[in-house]
Amino acid sequence: MAKYVYSFGKDGTDGDATMKNLLGGKGANLAEMAKIGLPVPSGFTITTEVCTYFYANGNQYPPELEAQVNDAMVAIEKTMGKKFGDNKDLPLLVSCRSGARESMPGMMDTVLNIGLNDKTVDVLAKKSGDERFAWDCYRRFVQMYGGVVLDMKPKSKTDHDPFEELLEKKKEKAGVKEDADLKPEHLKELVKEFKAAVKKQTGKDFPDDPMEQVWGAVGAVFGSWMNDRAIVYRRMYGIPHEWGTAVNVQAMVFGNMGNDCATGVALTRNGATGEKGITGDYLINAQGEDVVAGIRMPKKIEESLNKDMPVCWKQFAEVAMKLENHYKDVQDIEFTIERQNLWMLQTRNAKRTGFAAVRAAVDMVNEGLITPEQAIARIPANDITQLLQPVFSGAGLKGKTPIAKGINAGPGAATGQIHFQPDEAEAAWQKDNNAKIILVRMETTPEDLRGMKVANGILTSRGGAASHAALVSRQMGKACVCGCEAIAIDYKAETMTVGKETFKKGDWISVDGFTGNVYKGEVPTSPSEVLQVLFEKSLKPKDAPLYQCFQQLMSWSDRFRKLGVRTNADNPKESDQAIALGAEGIGLTRTEHMFFDHIDDFRKMILSETVADREKALAPLLGHQQKDFEGIFRAMKGRPVTIRLLDPPLHEFVPHEDKEQTDLAKKMGIKPEEVKRRVKELHEFNPMLGHRGCRLGIVYPEITRMQATAICQAAVAVMKEGIDCHPEIMIPLVGNITEYRNQEKIIREAATAVFKKAGVTPDYLVGTMIELPRACVTADKIAEGAEFFSFGTNDLTQTGLGISRDDYGTFINEYREMDIFSDDPFQTLDQEGVGGLMKIAVEKGKSARSDIKLGICGEHGGDPASVKFCHKIGLNYVSCSPLRLPVARLAAAQAAITEKKEKAARKAEGGCGCCANCKGGCGCKCCSNCKCGCKG
Ligand code: PEP
Ligand code: MG
Repeated sequence: MAKYVYSFGKDGTDGDATMKNLLGGKGANLAEMAKIGLPVPSGFTITTEVCTYFYANGNQYPPELEAQVNDAMVAIEKTMGKKFGDNKDLPLLVSCRSGARESMPGMMDTVLNIGLNDKTVDVLAKKSGDERFAWDCYRRFVQMYGGVVLDMKPKSKTDHDPFEELLEKKKEKAGVKEDADLKPEHLKELVKEFKAAVKKQTGKDFPDDPMEQVWGAVGAVFGSWMNDRAIVYRRMYGIPHEWGTAVNVQAMVFGNMGNDCATGVALTRNGATGEKGITGDYLINAQGEDVVAGIRMPKKIEESLNKDMPVCWKQFAEVAMKLENHYKDVQDIEFTIERQNLWMLQTRNAKRTGFAAVRAAVDMVNEGLITPEQAIARIPANDITQLLQPVFSGAGLKGKTPIAKGINAGPGAATGQIHFQPDEAEAAWQKDNNAKIILVRMETTPEDLRGMKVANGILTSRGGAASHAALVSRQMGKACVCGCEAIAIDYKAETMTVGKETFKKGDWISVDGFTGNVYKGEVPTSPSEVLQVLFEKSLKPKDAPLYQCFQQLMSWSDRFRKLGVRTNADNPKESDQAIALGAEGIGLTRTEHMFFDHIDDFRKMILSETVADREKALAPLLGHQQKDFEGIFRAMKGRPVTIRLLDPPLHEFVPHEDKEQTDLAKKMGIKPEEVKRRVKELHEFNPMLGHRGCRLGIVYPEITRMQATAICQAAVAVMKEGIDCHPEIMIPLVGNITEYRNQEKIIREAATAVFKKAGVTPDYLVGTMIELPRACVTADKIAEGAEFFSFGTNDLTQTGLGISRDDYGTFINEYREMDIFSDDPFQTLDQEGVGGLMKIAVEKGKSARSDIKLGICGEHGGDPASVKFCHKIGLNYVSCSPLRLPVARLAAAQAAITEKKEKAARKAEGGCGCCANCKGGCGCKCCSNCKCGCKG
């Protein structure tokens, strides 16, 4: 019989931490904690397979589930020594929580205090000796159950929450401000009123039967897997919808039974900076949700728990360290103290900023807790860009006084216009993707996710370092200042007031997530610590601890990676910066960028009517280009430099406005009509598929000749200075070997002439970009001539998918929202389609020229998933913009480490380990004899 329910607790645990796919992260870790002897309230996990079944079968459960749940409930009763629905003795109450494979903080639903009804609440009141506590639990339960299970939550901003309304009225009537000041009789009245509201809105009585309550909660939690915010979250973090969530039903323990009780969340290291030591928030006499929701200002664990509850603090600190050592990673822990007894409710690998990820990983290697390989594997490669982002410092802050200070929850510097409503922030961003937004909220909830996503920075007036705002902004790598109590927010008036000053929606403010400071207006930024060391040289490495961690991680990455890393750079400055960030060569110099510096000469060439005139116009350009190339060659100091010949259509270089055309005509000494006529001639309906790439050099061979001559003369000049030089001349947009041969001939003739005259012959290559499906399919023919291929995946995506790279903005958001595309194909390689074409080209290219050099220079060269794909299909290098180089280095190392692990696993299964096809038993001796079809 299929097993759908896994129990955990001190009397027996079925699962463990390795079973995340089946039990979800929370379930697997609860099982693991119980297994290693930590105090975990017992419970059970309903597997993710049930979620999949639930959605595949019209929200039905597998028939075996009911009996398994009943058995598991009995097991909890036995371990906890209480009975569910007991109306004589202290009753067992349970919680019901979601728990997906990857944690999705706050995105799905939770129901607490299940098992309470008019009878059990009385017993709870009597046996706990605290009537207020019992009725407060019941009041919270009816409210939570009504919202989550009975769907009574407000659906929009203007809807009222019936429970909140009743609660507010009650407080008003009782003359109190806080929920905590309501007396038992008020709470009793409230429960009655809540139930009446349920009857009125749903037409049904509130369920009294404890098991019916459990099933209602289980269904609601499975249902919440498909709520809007969970879907948005999954899309954002690439979590497949098919995974489903598990459901955890667990005995309740209470942090709200008096002042000897508490509840809290803690990290074993600082989630914002990575610094060692427990940090976190707790509240005395509260339930867990109160801490995360940020409704009451929590206390800091590291500051006062040892004074409030010394024995529990000591025990907690030991457990926290035990967990970090056990998981060998920073842990994010939820706990409750019930009458001085510590209970662990959750542990998971903590969400952290890029800063914290790098610092904690490097520290843990130095502490001997993990290996460099493990450190590399656990850092999301994209997160490392956070270390390169600008900060507020020195000059920018001169003369600025913070208007307020909150908790520095997510490092980074952000400046932008105030928005109070997440949906309005999203709309502003949709109107202008470059809009700078600071989302200002009292506290954030999972509903605010879309607004948080588009904001540069987040500022809240409540909540601590473990509040929702802090947690989510850290994960998103956004600057966040939370718990900034000095600001008073008025959502209705759309204002925020600090002291005597009032800021309106749209006013500019700046938040510093490193210090927690908030500033009025725009604060200019300075380069990050890493770039101050590497680019500006204004900071010494020894004075830059963050740089030291960064550099350590990069050097480990370089040790493991097999892929080369190059950069896309068009001038010596970019080349220098790229070398500082680890570039081993240039993968793409777009020569057209240089033409913009000498635009008049280039326009003269375009306006020429005859070949002779064109050649005359090109003569000064040769000198300019040669100088530019010399600068790059010098900067690259012997590293290979790929230079692409002119690619964009000529119309991009001519003026289109009347006045500019007249000015140009005057400069050129021709009539304005002539300029207009030529511009008209150059007009194309679809220029991206028009006269561009090698088609320009074929129709205007003198351009190719000039550029090849400039490259070769530059190489010779630099070599004569004693600097080694390896130019790689690249022909763009080739689809046919005949195009390639046409251009290659011109290049080689020009090169031979230059080298013969100079008496120096640099080591140079001629190759092509692969940007067209035809080029991929005929790559064997092209490779007969081309010495290297560089995949131009921007154009290959455009031509392979038939989607214009300039116009896809009109529908990509809808495609992403509707899950038609799982990613933006111009950011992350479409591995199946475009990647499939690349695989064909690699295979065919190698079949014709076994040592062909293979690289990628499209934007995908700096995208982690795409870099890993490039490793897999056997490219020699990836090339990306300088600031993406650290991402590429880290992702390339991760790819190599994963491959090593997979090989070892295949070997362990008895296969050769060399190829993924070999499932063992092929009998080969490392493939010399391979029968599995991988051909060694
Ligand atoms: C490409 O197409 O991927 C490429 C690098 O060229 P460009 O973006 O200049 O067209
Ligand atoms: Mg291109």
